[in-house]
Amino acid sequence: LEQIDALSVKSFPLCMRQLHKALRDNHHLRHGGRMQYGLFLKGIGLTLEQALEFWKKEFIRGKVDADKVKISKYGDGNLVCELACFLLSGCPFRHSDPELLKQKLQSYKIPPSGITQILELVKGMHYQLACQKYFELTHDVDDVGFSLNHPNQYFAESQRQLGG
Ligand code: SF4
Repeated sequence: LEQIDALSVKSFPLCMRQLHKALRDNHHLRHGGRMQYGLFLKGIGLTLEQALEFWKKEFIRGKVDADKVKISKYGDGNLVCELACFLLSGCPFRHSDPELLKQKLQSYKIPPSGITQILELVKGMHYQLACQKYFELTHDVDDVGFSLNHPNQYFAESQRQLGG
């Protein structure tokens, strides 16, 4: 578990870092969070393709609302990825109150200029880009060089960057 604590700081996207912390603090996660986090953890031991398969299955199992159905009719793998990020996993960039998000980022020692950039992206509803910016700031890179579409992809890229 300590290993996961360390990994969560280095390589987890914000959504999963929060879930991990909530689990550690409360020894409990709400059902939705438990499922997302479980899938993520399973995913980090799997290839990205396998993780995506997993999400797809969950998705097909009927945990869908009108929004999701609308997107799914395109039936394209990338959209399944976006579902994972934005609809199923309660993205903190999308769902947090900006002030709380700011405080969280401060507590994670993100520099003020970086926080301003992230909040600007969030304001423009560019949640994915906000997440990529968070990646850049926490990995000390100028350009992530990939287009983020899944929490497990974030983790895999992080491990690649860190040589893990
Ligand atoms: Fe997580 Fe995706 Fe939001 Fe990043 S964009 S915090 S990976 S849900």
